[in-house]
Amino acid sequence: MGKIILTGDRPTGKLHVGHYVGSLRRRVELQNSGEYDKIYIMIADAQALTDNADNPEKVRQNIIEVALDYLACGIDPKKSTILIQSQIPELCELSFYYMNLVTVSRLQRNPTVKSEIQMRNFEASIPVGFFTYPISQAADITAFKATTVPAGEDQMPMVEQTQEIVHKFNSVYGEALVEPKILLPDNQACMRLPGIDGKAKMSKSLGNCIYLSEEPEEIKKKVMSMFTDPDHIRVQDPGKIEGNCVFTYLDAFCQPEHFERYLPDYANLDELKDHYRRGGLGDVKVKKFLNNVLQETLEPIRVRRKELAKDIPAIYEILKKGSEEAEKVAAATLTDVKNAMKINYFDDMALIREQAEKYSKE
Ligand code: ATP
Ligand code: MG
Repeated sequence: MGKIILTGDRPTGKLHVGHYVGSLRRRVELQNSGEYDKIYIMIADAQALTDNADNPEKVRQNIIEVALDYLACGIDPKKSTILIQSQIPELCELSFYYMNLVTVSRLQRNPTVKSEIQMRNFEASIPVGFFTYPISQAADITAFKATTVPAGEDQMPMVEQTQEIVHKFNSVYGEALVEPKILLPDNQACMRLPGIDGKAKMSKSLGNCIYLSEEPEEIKKKVMSMFTDPDHIRVQDPGKIEGNCVFTYLDAFCQPEHFERYLPDYANLDELKDHYRRGGLGDVKVKKFLNNVLQETLEPIRVRRKELAKDIPAIYEILKKGSEEAEKVAAATLTDVKNAMKINYFDDMALIREQAEKYSKE
């Protein structure tokens, strides 16, 4: 069995630096490592519609934005297959059969879905599609027989739900599905990058993002307005690192060579943190450093994105080809699933013979 990656994003907006450190940067490294036999990257438009049913235009418009972000970050369509979820009807069929293997109470326990329901004020009226999206995500992952899902921490419950479905399916119907594992970022800051307001998670839906395509002035404005330590009022005051966004972002983005280039008075991030804790280091100085680090990281992505955007039809062509290729793979898995469940009546000669014999005796 080969090593296969499935990962993706909802086209609910342009991608942000949380996506970059949580998953996208890793995907590019894995893609270029040559260690994986297949890499599928899904633009999850059908999942985005589960909480945007009244705004399909938003989803439609953002498909190209997400695709541009992928390619600008270094996803290479020659090495990775980029697909659009809604173009693979087999995924709906798989979800439909998996639904019988999951209970309502199990779905209700999913902590990510719980907090998303709260965030979207869905408490009184949760759309069924939204409530069951972890099942559809299990279909996405298993359709491609994925072994590895590189994602942020919020995806852990989804991968666990998928593992349970795979276990249940294989034990009831026989081994047809592959159990996936999540691949989390190694760095705590990257697991769940906070928004610039210091709130839980940077998220398109919360409007607290720095986007990968952001212009330099806008990046600077956002960095300078970032949440720090509210008790660090004067430069000489001792400051707190925990919960201080600027340091969390430095944890996620900063490399030793950034100090040589932009802040040579310090050898590394630990020295900078120590100084901040002791007092005598102002927020503005740290923010200016972070701005330099982010500008350096995002500039090549922005430049490449603008270049790619000059030929939009070519991007749609990449998505079309990727979706067509992916559909073939999903169709083969669906055949395996239906064979295992014995709902392949017309190919099942033994069944036809058995029924014929039964009736020939009457
Ligand atoms: P939405 O608000 O529409 O749910 P989102 O910003 O949460 O959008 P998703 O498309 O749901 O983005 O997430 C795609 C991938 O990016 C997932 O692997 C997720 O774990 C990762 N990710 C998203 N936000 C962050 C973040 N702030 N930190 C780390 N990883 C993140
Ligand atoms: Mg999300």
